[in-house]
Amino acid sequence: MEALRTEESIMEFLNNALISCEKCHLCNTVCPVCDPRVSQGPYGINRSIYYGLKWNRFTEKLRDLVYSCTTCGKCVVKCKGVSRALPLVEIIENARELLLVEKMLGPMPEQRNVLKNMHVRGNPWGNAPHERTDWAKGLDISPAASDTHVDVLYFVGCASSYDPQAQKIAKNLSNILKQAGVNFGILEKEVCSGHEARRMGETGLFQFLSEANMALFEQAGINHIVTGDPHSFYSFCNEYPFGNNGPKVQHYTHFLNKLIDKGQLKLVSNVSKKVTYHDPCYLGRRSDVYDEPRKLIKTIPGVELVEMDKCREDSDCCGMGGGRMWMEPPETLVSSQAIANNRVRQALDTGAEILLTACPFCNITLNDAVKTLQKEDVIQVMDITELIVSAL
Ligand code: SF4
Ligand code: SF4
Repeated sequence: MEALRTEESIMEFLNNALISCEKCHLCNTVCPVCDPRVSQGPYGINRSIYYGLKWNRFTEKLRDLVYSCTTCGKCVVKCKGVSRALPLVEIIENARELLLVEKMLGPMPEQRNVLKNMHVRGNPWGNAPHERTDWAKGLDISPAASDTHVDVLYFVGCASSYDPQAQKIAKNLSNILKQAGVNFGILEKEVCSGHEARRMGETGLFQFLSEANMALFEQAGINHIVTGDPHSFYSFCNEYPFGNNGPKVQHYTHFLNKLIDKGQLKLVSNVSKKVTYHDPCYLGRRSDVYDEPRKLIKTIPGVELVEMDKCREDSDCCGMGGGRMWMEPPETLVSSQAIANNRVRQALDTGAEILLTACPFCNITLNDAVKTLQKEDVIQVMDITELIVSAL
């Protein structure tokens, strides 16, 4: 009965949401995944879920469509301009969790091993848990533990812990915090925040991982978390059940601006570079953090910031959110590589020498796209922390 009640409640939710749809199809025009010439975009995905429920027909074709969404949220912003900002992403995430995973149709076959790795080894790639802090060797970073008080926990996240490209973010941010004299530490037993498990519809796994991290925060007496991972940031702020006495959570762009304002962090070296900034979906559209990264970039002496045509709320996605890092959609939909290439082309159009971002996923993806387009001599992809280090 539980499943039936759940399906009924989704149906009601869908009915209420879609009844106010103006059928303008404008959401389709901004979706990075769906080519409006061959498919129906977010409007079509949501209608397909509705008819799947109505006719009790859940197929692999429907699953592929529902899992193709990067959860970038651009359709919701577009809809806000014409209708009532229908909760298109919420419907897609509910459908993944309550319809497709429940019916053993979801997640996508390629994502199953990734989820198993998160469960067994605490990270999507299946790396050894004891290698999680290898990037910090020689940097003299305190462990955050019950017997070592730290003012700030740096929550590193899986990509910056294990991926060689993204590890630069962890090293650079740690060096910046040290330079500013911040008493910070890292958790040796940190596990995946579970953000991507939740996006793939595996809320039980998300709960398991969030409880593991919350127990570590409590043991170490953490009341201030700073992270460089917008995905973890979003989940901490919106999905972890911290209650009223939870820790303060900041993305590093917030925290570093505060350190600069207080005079604790000084950027003194001139960096004469023309840069552009890519808003990561889970920092920008999904968390409404647009000004802090720009303020930080503009504080770097000598840097000229030029905006891409699509920026801030209108920014295009790098293509890897919502579980897309570990799957490819059917050929009728836009590939992850094509989405990332498109974003790099927009950056190239500005004439910038550096494409900055503030997310390890975007960093990895856009770097790959620059290589694919053979534009390494024209533009470099960097996290903001890398540019800050060169200005210290
Ligand atoms: S933008 Fe909103 S109102 Fe227009 S078709 Fe899409 S969901 Fe419906
Ligand atoms: S959230 Fe992004 S990828 Fe998903 S349907 Fe909306 S616009 Fe497309």
